[in-house]
Amino acid sequence: MIPNVPPALDACFLGPYGENADLREQLVVDFLRDHVYWRRNFHPEDPPAIPTHAAARPDYQAFEARLRRELHQLSAALKKSVPFHSPRYLGHMVSDLLIPGLAAQILTLPYNPNNVSEDAAPVTVDLEVQVGLQLAKMLGYVHDPKRKDCAFGHLTSGGTVANYQALRLALALKAFPVALRAAEVPDLDLPDDDRAAFHLAPAAGIALLERWQDWLASQANGERRRWRERVQEQRIEHLGIAGFFARHDSLRVPVVLAPTTAHYSWSKGMKLLGLGRAQLRLMPARGMRLDLEAVDAELRRCAAVRQPVLMAVGVFGSTEYGTIDPIDGLVALREHHVEQGLGFAVHVDAAWGGYLATMFRNEDGSLRPLPAVRDSFRHFPSPPVHAAVAALGRTDSITVDPHKLGYLPYGAGAFICRDHRAMALLAEEADYVFHGATPQDYLARYRSLGQYIPEGSKSGSMAAAVYVTHQVLPLDHRHFGQLPRQTIVNTEAFHARAQRFATEVAAHARVMVPFAPDSNLVCLALNPAGNRSLAQMNAFVRALHDELRIDPSHPLQFKEFFGSMTTLKPDALGEDETRRILQALGLDPHTLGQDEDGDRIVILRHTLMNPYLIDQENGISYIDRYFDFLARRVRERVAAAA
Ligand SMILES: *Cc1c(COP(=O)(O)O)cnc(C)c1O
Repeated sequence: MIPNVPPALDACFLGPYGENADLREQLVVDFLRDHVYWRRNFHPEDPPAIPTHAAARPDYQAFEARLRRELHQLSAALKKSVPFHSPRYLGHMVSDLLIPGLAAQILTLPYNPNNVSEDAAPVTVDLEVQVGLQLAKMLGYVHDPKRKDCAFGHLTSGGTVANYQALRLALALKAFPVALRAAEVPDLDLPDDDRAAFHLAPAAGIALLERWQDWLASQANGERRRWRERVQEQRIEHLGIAGFFARHDSLRVPVVLAPTTAHYSWSKGMKLLGLGRAQLRLMPARGMRLDLEAVDAELRRCAAVRQPVLMAVGVFGSTEYGTIDPIDGLVALREHHVEQGLGFAVHVDAAWGGYLATMFRNEDGSLRPLPAVRDSFRHFPSPPVHAAVAALGRTDSITVDPHKLGYLPYGAGAFICRDHRAMALLAEEADYVFHGATPQDYLARYRSLGQYIPEGSKSGSMAAAVYVTHQVLPLDHRHFGQLPRQTIVNTEAFHARAQRFATEVAAHARVMVPFAPDSNLVCLALNPAGNRSLAQMNAFVRALHDELRIDPSHPLQFKEFFGSMTTLKPDALGEDETRRILQALGLDPHTLGQDEDGDRIVILRHTLMNPYLIDQENGISYIDRYFDFLARRVRERVAAAA
């Protein structure tokens, strides 16, 4: 069965063959010319400064010759790049690039806007704020800047920095009520002691912040400044972590709970913020999805020993397995523990999976019910996945990577927080002057974007790229959603084909999909028939993977397909799942952990982002071709070993 590719997708990409080359070229040339005319029309009375005969001079020509030579060399070298655009590429989280994004980025580059502030980016800084609102709508946050609890989002270099920003904001919000107490601000109805202040939930922290801003606004001019400075001096951002906790000896450095499947950016973030890696507590998973019982037990332990919790992280689309954590359950756990006096932030790392939410959204931003979403698929989405999407709007902040499932060039991550008022705490300069709740105030505030983001100077061309993409393909199921829809349709075909493949090669190897995919990432475990040793199976899979990865010493065309590899660790699988998988593969459980390569299960990993995996035009299924290729390789390897 060959499913339908929605025709609209045919205009989206340059295409595996460069089919849309004319469109792409025209856009680049048109808008480059347009830029040149802009220069010439700025002050047409200014004559050309570079002499018209300069191009005839030997030094000019020598320069041009060197330039061309270097560019030719670069272009030649780049032919060794990974062919992300090809339906033969099933490796990492990248595919072809959307023409709207690439065209907007190339168009904007020569104007060189710097989104650090509106002075340097009168146009693109607003686009970045709009992108935040577009993503907020996709995720189910309030996205109307007229509302005072409107969400806010900005771009980052990637998911790593967005996750870091989430930690930074959560810590600022957690420590602020303690600072208000230390500054002895009157009339705010502050918590009774430091512990209670440090255990407030983010929503309560934001309410307190607002009370403080109102109170401050009611003070006379000189008093206002004095109080602001007095509070500033008590803030964790001023004192540093050491200074802050030295002053408040009833408090401990808070911990962050994240699943074992979490990306290593969490470890980096803990180090960078100075909280320390030891404060990152990795929670077990079951079938690669966060184990809520374990989280609940950990939260109870924390409450019992008065250990503050900064944040609980849920992953919406894990990097290695594409699995989706029970965000709804995590939010419910948070509500329960807040009632018990243990407040913390809930952050969702949706760097990979964020754009999947487009399939769940109507054009007005409302959530589509499960049966409506499921209409396009055989199995997707599972009820837990639908429930996880429905709960996104109740979290505090979310990371999304436009440069992953947004099909945009690298350098585009995004951080979105549910309630923008918290951002005042990240401002480098006192941000208490903004009081209103009109869209003008909202935009005016964030035009000095550099005050709030971890970076300073930052290309406005990326904001333009993401904004234009979201305008051409709005983030709902009828538009952008068609793209992930196609990849999920392909994933279901891939999954079904993997099961047929398992039967076809049964005489040579035991093959299984270790857990049903939540999204468009499918893993495959393969064990040579008769082998009982995990280490031997791992060596076998590594050898297969060697054929599926880039090898700069050989021409690209030698490679038939590209895939990636990952491992299953028993603590991410859970005991039952580990046992089930070892058994299904015919492995002796005693060989688990027996030697160095045997403490985890090595498997193949396939990221299915390319919408042309099934080529309707020519009736080619690259999925079939891939499994034919894999079957050949498995038979050859098993025969060679015999
Ligand atoms: C990719 C990824 C990150 C890191 O994002 P970068 O854009 O590579 O910095 C973080 N979390 C998850 C779940 C990811 O998939």
